[in-house]
Amino acid sequence: MKTGNGLSKAIWAAAVGVGVALVGHSQAQTAAGELPAMHMVNLSQETVAAILERATVIPAQLPQAVEPVVEPAPTLEIVAEAAQGYIVFADSAKHLNPRSTRWPQAKLEAMVSVYDEAVLNHYAAEDGFGSISRWAEAFGISQDNPIVVIYVKGDAHGAPARASWKGETPTVTHFTLRTSVPSEVVKLVIHELAHIWDSAHDWKLSDAMVSTVQNPEEHPTAKARDEGPLEDFAESVTATLVEGYAVNGEWTDDAGAQPDAAWTMDRFDFVSELLGR
Ligand SMILES: [Zn+2]
Repeated sequence: MKTGNGLSKAIWAAAVGVGVALVGHSQAQTAAGELPAMHMVNLSQETVAAILERATVIPAQLPQAVEPVVEPAPTLEIVAEAAQGYIVFADSAKHLNPRSTRWPQAKLEAMVSVYDEAVLNHYAAEDGFGSISRWAEAFGISQDNPIVVIYVKGDAHGAPARASWKGETPTVTHFTLRTSVPSEVVKLVIHELAHIWDSAHDWKLSDAMVSTVQNPEEHPTAKARDEGPLEDFAESVTATLVEGYAVNGEWTDDAGAQPDAAWTMDRFDFVSELLGR
């Protein structure tokens, strides 16, 4: 608040008045060992009423109303970047997850490579969106509002990672870091990033996919079949971007050597359209 205006002076003076009245009151009470005297309570209530009266009159005379309070954004402790800065790794981002911890250095380096590969060699590649800027646009992200990757040591209900927008921040949370087979982690990350993509569109992509495909019972994987439309979408995106990921050959008639005749819209076609390829 600006100093020196009439309102703050009025409130300050009145508050001092209340303080004096209350201090006087409590000293008298302590000395006498008695309950508060009613007239003292009445006095302070009258003083509060006077403050309120002045407070409702004076603001109208001020040239400007009270300025809105802008909360400063929580600062991120960024420890690494991937995908040209569209993805950042943050330590102890408590505002995104109260249990967020520091990244172990050796695992962090492996994860940066994994994210680089997932984005540069898959999402942004010729078979994906075709460029990193088109990928970022579809995901609703920028280098000013990148995907934040955090680590929570321990296991959350068995899932190695979870992903969605948390308010204004697209966030991937890793719970376990099994980086010994990087190609497996790349698939996991492609899957998690698909949730970020779906979440950026209020989960309407998965919804639309399930209601649009002509072979809805043919899922690429058991996870896609068993764990609901969100997992179905993330698995279908992964299967579209990573050859050989699907275990059910009937999920599409486009992949591999299968004839392109049975369906004009299967999960592969749906994701391919979203990718604009
Ligand atoms: Zn998932």
